[in-house]
Amino acid sequence: MLERIRIVLIGTSHPGNIGATARAMHNMGLSDLALVAPRCEPLTADSISRASGADHLVHAARVHDTLDAAIADCTLAVGASARSRTLPWPMLTPRELGARLPEELASDDARVALVLGREDSGLTNAELQRCHAHVHIPTNPDFSSLNLAAAVQVLAYECRQAWLDSATTAVSPEESPSLASHDELERYFEHLERTLIAIGFHDPKTPRQLMARLRRFTLRARPERLEINILRGILTATEQQADAQRTSDSGE
Ligand code: SAH
Repeated sequence: MLERIRIVLIGTSHPGNIGATARAMHNMGLSDLALVAPRCEPLTADSISRASGADHLVHAARVHDTLDAAIADCTLAVGASARSRTLPWPMLTPRELGARLPEELASDDARVALVLGREDSGLTNAELQRCHAHVHIPTNPDFSSLNLAAAVQVLAYECRQAWLDSATTAVSPEESPSLASHDELERYFEHLERTLIAIGFHDPKTPRQLMARLRRFTLRARPERLEINILRGILTATEQQADAQRTSDSGE
């Protein structure tokens, strides 16, 4: 289970935090580290020293330009956030997140991404809206923001405890349907937006959070791959109808 949990750090600016993240992960038995557009050199004397013997995770870390690329194959993405945002999103505590993991990760092709933000500005709304749920570490509300690697430590600890607890209650993979991956969901959202614009339902100049609300709704439903394929089929048929209508309206 633990090898299917990916820690994704976006826009990290201090190499020491990357090293300390590697240490926190290795302590808890996690190994999959991805860096999205880091704002520093990941491998420095500082990061190696803070990794304290876990620098092989930094060497093995994959570096991506975008969050979408880093989590393309993930079936669940959870964004770690120190603050609440404008549009409320499903929220988990680290313990609730851990409790979900054994079932989430029962099948071999399941992958969970835990996404953490920049030291200075956290995650953007667009990044948070790419996640199924958000996890908030309950802290002193007057001083809520943890150091990046400390936040990784808390989340990784809960993952490990959940894994230890689950050793006695195995979940059978046959019960878990094949969920759509992040990449399949993103292609669906692009198709949906294109279609809604084509039929005149959505005006990107006055978005009124329409796409964010549709994202929240769809992600909450945890669609299976097959269901996303059906929805894309409906969108394709809708686009064809809209095209045919336009052609007949223009008198051809
Ligand atoms: N100053 C930033 C927070 C930066 S801390 C802000 O106000 O958003 C760097 C990252 O650590 C955050 O983006 C988040 O992913 C994680 N983090 C820090 N404190 C957290 C908390 N209390 N709960 C969940 N994640 C937290």
